[in-house]
Amino acid sequence: MSGCIFCRVVAGTAPSTKVYEDDVLLAFLDIRPITRGHTLVIPKTHATDLNDLEPALGARLFAFGHRLAKAVRRGDLAADGANLVINDGKAAFQTVDHVHLHVVPRRSGDKLAFARG
Ligand code: 5GP
Repeated sequence: MSGCIFCRVVAGTAPSTKVYEDDVLLAFLDIRPITRGHTLVIPKTHATDLNDLEPALGARLFAFGHRLAKAVRRGDLAADGANLVINDGKAAFQTVDHVHLHVVPRRSGDKLAFARG
């Protein structure tokens, strides 16, 4: 969708640091990370919010988030856990109108609150 920043990331007309890509999903680093390795997972096709998203695609989105939450515990990221969050709708502080799953690596004692609102 023209005008959607995440559609531009998918199209390659906006810059991103890609973490993963397949036929339906793209994962890339958040431009304002809450913690090191904070990643956004999105469907490549535009869906404004969960109400607009095919359930099968929602399942793919979460399945990849699950994989990523396990992966961030290994290697350089060395997380002890992760927050997986979808801010769904303006009332829930969704600021980019293209469904995205936040995967926020957490380290013991980092004492960060996820919510920005
Ligand atoms: P929301 O509040 O909608 O759940 O989160 C939107 C997220 O998208 C924020 O964490 C914000 O930092 C991130 N974001 C907004 N614009 C861009 C962008 O152009 N590139 C990247 N990589 N992240 C973005």
